[in-house]
Amino acid sequence: MTAAQKTVGVFALQGDVREHMHVLTCLGARTRPVRRPADLVGLDGIVLPGGESSVMDRLARIMGLKAPLADAIRDGLPAYGTCAGMILLAAGIENPAPGQGSLGVLDVTVRRNAFGTQVDSFEADLAVPAVSADPVHAVFIRAPAVVRVGEGVEVLAEVPASRMVASGAPAPHHHDDAAPASAVPVAVRAGHVLATSFHPEVTGDWSFHREFLAGL
Ligand code: GLN
Repeated sequence: MTAAQKTVGVFALQGDVREHMHVLTCLGARTRPVRRPADLVGLDGIVLPGGESSVMDRLARIMGLKAPLADAIRDGLPAYGTCAGMILLAAGIENPAPGQGSLGVLDVTVRRNAFGTQVDSFEADLAVPAVSADPVHAVFIRAPAVVRVGEGVEVLAEVPASRMVASGAPAPHHHDDAAPASAVPVAVRAGHVLATSFHPEVTGDWSFHREFLAGL
């Protein structure tokens, strides 16, 4: 099967839904906005966009989408989350907004806004050998960092830990290492779940979307 025959949902209760739809369409996929449980039926994959993860979590609960979405991903629906989407996928959030939860389908803990606020946004060319032979251009906007990586989670890309703004929390540790890490994961994969702290949907670099579609 080719990507042209795949239907990819985009979580559409909040966030940069249109940008993802555009990229996926350009890459030959059929797209569908996902707002209610029935929208999950028949999908080959789902993308969780950037936006505001606490709002996404709350709206998903209100719409009755949260549990069916988590179940679908747990049952094997391939998922790709960018920025707030990564936070939504994570098993743990170090600094949640009051009442904020997550889908808990990716065994990592994330720190929200780890690189600072909007004014601290930055761009970087990342080595991501598992995904692209060329460096991947990445834009970080109030981005999360992965501060705990669970067993079986593959780290695809990192940035220097010095990029992180000071926070009360201790520096992240790699799970097999007692020393604070000098680099912090910003792209991870665990089986059919892929997540990036950054936003390929707003740059012209669609390597991660290609990688995601190729795995469907
Ligand atoms: N800081 C946002 C959050 O916590 C994520 C920002 C983004 O998606 N660009 O949800």
